Amino acid sequence: MQNIGEENINELEKAQMDFISTVSHELRTPLTSIRGFADTLLTSYDRLTPEQREKFLLIIKDQSNRLINLVENLLTVSKMQSDKELMVYKATDALQAAEYAVQIIKNQYKTHKYILNYDKNLPKILVDSDKLQQILINLIDNASKYSPENTTVTVNICQNYNENTLTISVKDEGIGINSEDIGKIFNKFSRIDSPLTRKIQGNGLGLYITKTLTEKMGGKISVDSSPKGSEFKITFKAATPEDNGLKKIKE
Ligand code: ADP
Repeated sequence: MQNIGEENINELEKAQMDFISTVSHELRTPLTSIRGFADTLLTSYDRLTPEQREKFLLIIKDQSNRLINLVENLLTVSKMQSDKELMVYKATDALQAAEYAVQIIKNQYKTHKYILNYDKNLPKILVDSDKLQQILINLIDNASKYSPENTTVTVNICQNYNENTLTISVKDEGIGINSEDIGKIFNKFSRIDSPLTRKIQGNGLGLYITKTLTEKMGGKISVDSSPKGSEFKITFKAATPEDNGLKKIKE
């Protein structure tokens, strides 16, 4: 069989092969685990204690959630890339969106503490509220996932009067990101490999989606990190009074 040298494969083919290989790996790991634990439950049900049965069922549930997240992220990436994603812009209450996102994540991380600080009389921002929700959930989920139990995740929402913008920041007390890795974290499928991150599940799509959606809606994203924790900030223009009650649909 002829060995095709890497230099002969054009860039697109290589990107597609990388993509298929990464996705297959991401799908295979949870699927193998689901099949293994389902098999054990089927063949050894009577020999297992109720605690073991519950433990195995919880693993099956966790791994299924991991698959659902991966497929949802892949669908988002595919929609973003085809540029066919409909964005419904309307004046959106960032505080309400942040409260909702915190509520959702709080249910998954029982020992973390969540603090939400905000300026009074915050202006609304002109964004697609579902996409803003997705961005906030990604950032708050990462802040929780990459920090130890019993630490605090702080969400701050403040108005920048000079620039007429609003900044939402998500701060954690977690493992931090090395300065040489910061440039990579927003790339598609990019995960930082270290003894600290290896045990934490993910598919490297969350921040790519977060940055792409933020910028698509005219916003900016930045990150500051130290070994004591990280802080991600997203900034959007404040909505004007004319924006209130308006609905703009763009592809
Ligand atoms: P993942 O699914 O791996 O979490 P993301 O795209 O959301 O993918 O993040 C990319 C990488 O950036 C992660 O694998 C992790 O190494 C790093 N990262 C993201 N958020 C944080 C955070 N709050 N603290 C430390 N590292 C983070």
